[in-house]
Amino acid sequence: MKHQDIPLKSTNQAAIKSEINWPHQKKSCLFLSFDFDAETAWFDERAADSKQLVRMSHGGYGARVGVPKVLELLNHLNLSATFFIPGWVVETYTALCEDILNAGHEIGHHGYYHLKPSITEGQPKSIDSLEQSIEEIDRGFEALERCLGVKPIGYRAPCGENYDLILDYLSQKGIKYSSSWRDDILPYRHVLDSSLDSGNKGLLELPANSAFDDWNHGVMKGSSRNMLTREQVLSIWQDELEQTHAWGGLTTTVFHPQVAGRPSRFMILEQFLKHAQTIEDLWIANGESIFRHLEEQGL
Ligand SMILES: [Zn+2]
Repeated sequence: MKHQDIPLKSTNQAAIKSEINWPHQKKSCLFLSFDFDAETAWFDERAADSKQLVRMSHGGYGARVGVPKVLELLNHLNLSATFFIPGWVVETYTALCEDILNAGHEIGHHGYYHLKPSITEGQPKSIDSLEQSIEEIDRGFEALERCLGVKPIGYRAPCGENYDLILDYLSQKGIKYSSSWRDDILPYRHVLDSSLDSGNKGLLELPANSAFDDWNHGVMKGSSRNMLTREQVLSIWQDELEQTHAWGGLTTTVFHPQVAGRPSRFMILEQFLKHAQTIEDLWIANGESIFRHLEEQGL
């Protein structure tokens, strides 16, 4: 494809909403979500990396310490979240994933090996075809259902990329909402060229906010940056939340237990969630509850 072939239209054709009626007279919504990637985040670019045990241990922390600590905190605060989990993690850490479910949290689809979807050859660090992307998605569904009896309705793209043909396929397979886009503070309904042909209603998007991706605060793979301090991260998160709240919007977190469960990061998470709970007219919910509400509203 050449640049001259790129059409002169916005890459997102979804209608722009001016406001959302949140339930219980709430002014805005916090979609509390975690990506439990474990080792997949460290071998998703090269399978051979899985032999590097110290490299893998960064991700393993999420399972050994991160998720149990996060579950303890959510239980203490009486909060329900969504955990997006790759199929490989579900098969490897089935008992822990059962703990997540039994604690009342939602489990969403997050690929199988956490491979970055692609529909064309030669994309950097991603799979090479629509067929391979679909295989990865099918394996994810299969693992969630066989190990946990879960038929997910939410999907977050591994490595944060997606395509209209893949969204359309997810919709055909029972996914109701996506949470990967970064382009709005309100939810919207995807409008896809491909779904016009198949007659599928586009997926609902619960857009995420990169400021709440905890990898981005210096705890990143290969990051040469220093970690941001508690004061810095809290100040960013609280400002993002409070302004989104003033706008009546949706704040979506992209927390990772292998990051958020590290001791100093855990203190930030705890303080942030406690702060969020002091905002009386903020609705804190998981993706499924938000999806159900928005569907009732006719979005
Ligand atoms: Zn992930």
